Amino acid sequence: MKVAVYPGTFDPITLGHLDVIERALKLFDKLIVAVTTAQNKKPLFSLKERASMASEAVRGKGNVEVRTFDCLLVDFLRSQKAGIILRGLREVSDFEHEFQQAIMNRKLDPGIETVFIMTSAKYFYLTSSAVKEVAALGGDVGCFVPKVVEKKLRERLEKPKKPN
Ligand code: ADP
Repeated sequence: MKVAVYPGTFDPITLGHLDVIERALKLFDKLIVAVTTAQNKKPLFSLKERASMASEAVRGKGNVEVRTFDCLLVDFLRSQKAGIILRGLREVSDFEHEFQQAIMNRKLDPGIETVFIMTSAKYFYLTSSAVKEVAALGGDVGCFVPKVVEKKLRERLEKPKKPN
């Protein structure tokens, strides 16, 4: 059984992530979306909120589970009996950082392979950070994120109306 782990901050999950997930489900028997604590990135949503939005977004898509983890990625893979790290690739600027991580993970565990899947062209420039910026300024993010995320972003970022 080919089990792949798709790790990330998912703050929040976007249609770009979901595009990668759907493509990956055609290649692997099981996919685990692994949400990291990523405290250094100061996420907008808590780990629990990010995992819960991801779970709702992937519901009904096939053999995909959402888990959280707070340890070395290769150790998490071993605990899940998974041998593949899945990462999404967008513009070229992703490449250098992803390459570094893949080499590091290979050093840590030569039995684990990193596989990259290119997202659909319409999501090439889509990032969770851009979505949060647009939402904070009151822009419509409906074409970038699943419904559950759109609603959560609105609740979280809506500013209280100033009295006249
Ligand atoms: P991380 O903090 O680990 O980069 P992210 O949640 O930002 O976590 O991204 C998780 C993975 O999904 C990364 O491999 C990233 O390159 C990929 N990714 C993010 N947005 C997109 C997108 N629009 N299309 C394809 N892959 C994406």
